[in-house]
Amino acid sequence: MSWSNGGQEKFFEHVNANQSEYIQHLRKWVEIPSVSCQSNTRPEVIQMMHQAKEEFIETLGAKMWLVDNPKGTQFFADGEQVPYPPVLLGTYPETFDPAKKTILLYGHLDVQPAKMSDGWDTEPFQLIEKDGKMFGRGSTDDKGPVLGWLLALKAFKDLDIELNVNLKFCFEGMEETGSVGLSEVIFETCPEFFNTGVDGTCISDNYWLGTTKPCLTYGLRGIGYWHLTVEGASRDLHSGVFGGTCHEAMTDLVYLFSSLVNQKGEILIPGINDDVAPVTAEEDASYDAIDFCKEEFKASNGINLIKEDKKFTLMGRWRNPSLSLHGIEGAFYEPGEKTVIPRRVIGKFSIRLVPDMKPAKIHQLVQAHIDEQVKKLGTPNKIWLTNVSGSEAGHGESWYGNPSGFLFEAGKTATKMVYGQDPDMTREGGSIPVTLEFQNATKKPVILLPMGAADDGAHSQNEKLNVRNYIEGVKLLGTFLQEIK
Ligand SMILES: [Zn+2]
Repeated sequence: MSWSNGGQEKFFEHVNANQSEYIQHLRKWVEIPSVSCQSNTRPEVIQMMHQAKEEFIETLGAKMWLVDNPKGTQFFADGEQVPYPPVLLGTYPETFDPAKKTILLYGHLDVQPAKMSDGWDTEPFQLIEKDGKMFGRGSTDDKGPVLGWLLALKAFKDLDIELNVNLKFCFEGMEETGSVGLSEVIFETCPEFFNTGVDGTCISDNYWLGTTKPCLTYGLRGIGYWHLTVEGASRDLHSGVFGGTCHEAMTDLVYLFSSLVNQKGEILIPGINDDVAPVTAEEDASYDAIDFCKEEFKASNGINLIKEDKKFTLMGRWRNPSLSLHGIEGAFYEPGEKTVIPRRVIGKFSIRLVPDMKPAKIHQLVQAHIDEQVKKLGTPNKIWLTNVSGSEAGHGESWYGNPSGFLFEAGKTATKMVYGQDPDMTREGGSIPVTLEFQNATKKPVILLPMGAADDGAHSQNEKLNVRNYIEGVKLLGTFLQEIK
């Protein structure tokens, strides 16, 4: 059956008719507690990788294979040693049609830890359906979306609808713990799989901006992180004995901290905004239609906005750099009073980076600013700045996908067909490092196509996926593939 001639309607009907079976399937996946950050559930992560492999093979006849994790074995502090899970790669259908585009699909099968004692209302590793919501760890992050790909492809197969693209799969089991080993698989172990013949990558591992309107995500901020150390003495001192006699480390640090950012959130480092991509008229206009309620944003987080303005807030979160002060190591912080003068304090701060800021240049600017301020301060204390953002190439960079490229066009069409409305074009203020890795490896565009809603509570207690997001999500993922031009 052809997609454009009745196939699409049949596909939607088929997905609706199989709703309870789809939920049952997700239930089976959620019941595997594939928590990647602890040693005792590592076997379940590995089991989950094997199960997904078998299911893709049995259901679709896809070619699937596990790649040993290049990082080998993990040694835990308690003496436990467990292997890192393999990465699951695959291709489908059996023979690639050179006339069709090849799309790489990414997802992860590991989850965050969850226990009833953390404050869950129901058993986290059982899928509990209530009021149109399916509660369970991994339901939305990211088992629902990965299963969504499998179910959409199975539906096409059952209905004999020809797939419009060639597919490559990359599913991992360490995403919640920093994607250990994935970079090595992409760039060293299996580089040809990624750098040859892929036209675009789709990642379904983020969320709508709100709870009702679908979105496509085309930007992520990067990050640079610094430690600023001030050392003023060889041991901690008593303020009754030494106060008023020596240069104190904390006083210097507070001065330097206050030179970084002001109360309006403006970064005070000279040159920091020089490379920030200017706002085009098109981008400026795009914020108006976005389904974002600043009152709800304020109320649900108990925050005070810098400016009572929707566009300012969205731009502040998505497309402008921001500097945050995170903490001071070595400072007295317990309750009560202690008259200590800390010998050494380490101030921690980070800058969220946006296009076209380059991490290396930003570090130079931060360093030059600190040097200048230290000179002004005229302190004899030892002060040094350490960039702890990581040393890998491209680490911490922001990502910008072309919102008018072919992936986003297919995403828009699919959203309209499934949800009957245009998607919001959104960015996110945080980072999903694999996005940039896939873009760098394939040299082709990437799209983030979310299935779940903003209130799904990924990583939190009572994580859930709405039945609607799941079922419409299966349609969305399938339609996206069929509408790629
Ligand atoms: Zn995730």
